[in-house]
Amino acid sequence: LSDKLQETFKRLKGKGKLTEEDVSEAMREVRMALLEADVNYKVVKEFVAKVKERSIGQEVLESLSPAQHVIKIVNEEMVALMGSVSSKINISSKPPTVILLVGLQGAGKTTHAAKLATLLKKQGKHPLMVACDIYRPAAVKQLQVLGEQIKVPVFSIDGENPVKIAQESIRHANSQGQDVVIIDTAGRLHINEELMGELRDIKATVRPHEILLVVDAMTGQDAVNVAESFHSELGVDGIILTKLDGDTRGGAALSIKAVTGCPIKFAGIGEKMEALEPFYPERMASRILGMGDVLTLIEKAQSAFDEKQAREMEQKLRKQEFTLDDFLDQMQQIKKMGPLSSILEMIPGVGKQLKDVQIDEKDTAHVEAIIRSMTTEERRKPAIIKDSRKRRIAKGSGTSIQEVGRLIKQFEQMQKMMKQFAGGMPGMPGMPGMP
Ligand code: GDP
Ligand code: MG
Repeated sequence: LSDKLQETFKRLKGKGKLTEEDVSEAMREVRMALLEADVNYKVVKEFVAKVKERSIGQEVLESLSPAQHVIKIVNEEMVALMGSVSSKINISSKPPTVILLVGLQGAGKTTHAAKLATLLKKQGKHPLMVACDIYRPAAVKQLQVLGEQIKVPVFSIDGENPVKIAQESIRHANSQGQDVVIIDTAGRLHINEELMGELRDIKATVRPHEILLVVDAMTGQDAVNVAESFHSELGVDGIILTKLDGDTRGGAALSIKAVTGCPIKFAGIGEKMEALEPFYPERMASRILGMGDVLTLIEKAQSAFDEKQAREMEQKLRKQEFTLDDFLDQMQQIKKMGPLSSILEMIPGVGKQLKDVQIDEKDTAHVEAIIRSMTTEERRKPAIIKDSRKRRIAKGSGTSIQEVGRLIKQFEQMQKMMKQFAGGMPGMPGMPGMP
């Protein structure tokens, strides 16, 4: 960066770096908050250590105190850990799609079988619910009542074992043209071998496309053991976290995600059939942290900062000072926000256009490597990059001369376009690294 720009950035960032002391102090508060939210103590310990290490030395955002800045980082890490929104059910190309619901007794399996059926029906599917909880006399009836209510057929066989019922249900679905089979299973109060054995047998027989673990958000420290056992025995594809309408802080969400790595796909927020939502990591993080006021403040500071940066960027664009360095910065910013495709989907009007375009994240990695292999001067004036430089850069970045050439060409086109639209948003489709 030029000296002038570096000065500007210094002024922007202002406050200096986070010291170990800043971080330790703030982390004490964070640790308390997480334990209060019933996040598993081992998860808390690991999480705090990791974030601590990452925080020390980071620049403090203008208008935040060091402690607030640490909380900002904690919040971001929690959101990242709990994953991006992915409340998609794996629909099989060859129907029926088979969904197996597992979990402890009272977690909400039966209720959520019906909620999922409601959701899928709205999406134009023809679900069949299957009653495999034969142990509690009222369990089959419960599913049948829900089925009548939402007008979804329920499959059951009196006096048969759960494995056989599950197996027959697939045949039944095929003959009736039901394209999704949702299997409601029995739970137990605690994990036991009998339960796991039965679930393993059902799994082996029906080969579900999706095994969803249903967990009560009020489950405290034990959530980790529950999730770990189910996951290691069955291989869970996703979690439904239920009863989030209660006043629990829901630390189980963080615990479960941390130990299993399984995406939390849905949140149950009530007993009604419509009370099912995609899981929102941002909301969950702020709920677990329980520092709403601080987070609002941080958000404001962040958006003020972003605005300032955007203005800076705009100025550069107007003055034709936008370099490959800035471009790299922008890419870094975007990467922080998550997968490119999901960000583009959020931009009004862009999502639809790009729906069928696959964005190759590998491509952006190449772009990054190429820019990093350039000298400062080259980044500022790509026009000086002729054949021998291209060769050097290609070698340094592990790419090809053609790729380097393409990037430079695209960048120049982008600059040209920016000149035309100076002041507006850089045109997305022209950005290098995107097809
Ligand atoms: P199962 O034993 O896992 O099948 O659990 P059930 O589906 O029978 O649910 C147990 C109890 O929890 C029932 O009274 C449900 O109405 C209730 N329940 C399930 N999901 C939710 C939820 O998201 N919020 C609330 N408040 N109650 C729920
Ligand atoms: Mg049940």
